[in-house]
Amino acid sequence: MTDHTAGGLSRTEVDAPQIVDLPTPAPRPVVEHHRPARPRFGEGAQIVCDNLVRIYKVADLEVVALQGLDLLVRAGEMIAIVGASGSGKSTLLGIIGGLDVPSAGRATVAGHDLTQMGRRERTFYRRRVVGILWQQTSRNLLSYLSAVENVELPMVLDRGRERRRRALELLDLVGLSDRAGHRPDSLSGGEQQRVAIAVALANAPAVILADEPTGELDSTTSGEVFGLMRRVNAELGTTVVIVTHDPLVSEQVQRTVAIRDGRTSTETLRRTEFADDGNHQVIAEEFAVLDRAGRLQLPRSHVEALRLEHRVRLRLEEDHVGVWPDRPRVDASRPEEPGR
Ligand code: ADP
Ligand code: MG
Repeated sequence: MTDHTAGGLSRTEVDAPQIVDLPTPAPRPVVEHHRPARPRFGEGAQIVCDNLVRIYKVADLEVVALQGLDLLVRAGEMIAIVGASGSGKSTLLGIIGGLDVPSAGRATVAGHDLTQMGRRERTFYRRRVVGILWQQTSRNLLSYLSAVENVELPMVLDRGRERRRRALELLDLVGLSDRAGHRPDSLSGGEQQRVAIAVALANAPAVILADEPTGELDSTTSGEVFGLMRRVNAELGTTVVIVTHDPLVSEQVQRTVAIRDGRTSTETLRRTEFADDGNHQVIAEEFAVLDRAGRLQLPRSHVEALRLEHRVRLRLEEDHVGVWPDRPRVDASRPEEPGR
């Protein structure tokens, strides 16, 4: 599998705008850290979403489904995308999958610029570079074809015998060799999704995109389907991006990206550490995402806890930035109540 990621973004970097309305105390001297030259945004990443905007026009209304979304995924990663319904997850997947184009911004996958593709490149891209798995099993498979015929259908190989051999090999990979002749309606939901994974892998794509692939399955079956996707990721090196509501999935990948209101808001990274007693534990750490213009989204709980609104005060410290509400601290200035 070759990755043609070329970076390819020709935009010049713009420095983050200065916030001039800072609190009154004299500015602290800024410690000069050594700054290495910043690499171009997305350099080395296989999936680069750069400031994606997608506006749907419905009659006279405009729905902004993505509002400047940034996302980078390395080749061979497996990530989960989570977020409330309507936050823009499917819109994002449709763009990465080459089914939809953004209203603004850039998307590059394995060296293909998704905003500049002509018809032929788009067809090539959709067949060879990405494989898509939908939640509805009926959308993944044709009901009148057997499992093996479904897997053969998207194949670009010319020779029939070669196609059959490869389709059977893929059904073996997903553990369904013995169901090759079955049509979807005689397979269970989990089996149908496993066949769908084989279909998605038909042309050995670099990336698999899955939109709530376990949404219609019970937890045991969804565990099996997720386990299979992990195997595909580990054994074939396929990059996997799964949109999911299922904590079973989102809590078992190394990186979970949360989308809020059409933007990436937080990322949770997980790593495994070995404790002294030899047992391993998973450490999960949540980060806010900072975009290139310096914007970040504070978690709703933080905003509510300090009743932050409209404006906040920022102060640069040596190793962190403090955020304060834009009002005097009543408790500090108020004299002690008499008689206490
Ligand atoms: P999610 O998958 O996170 O539930 P979607 O990407 O489906 O979110 O939708 C994001 C927003 O865009 C929602 O407000 C949704 O109503 C709107 N939207 C999605 N698809 C369309 C469409 N084809 N036409 C108009 N609005 C759409
Ligand atoms: Mg959706």
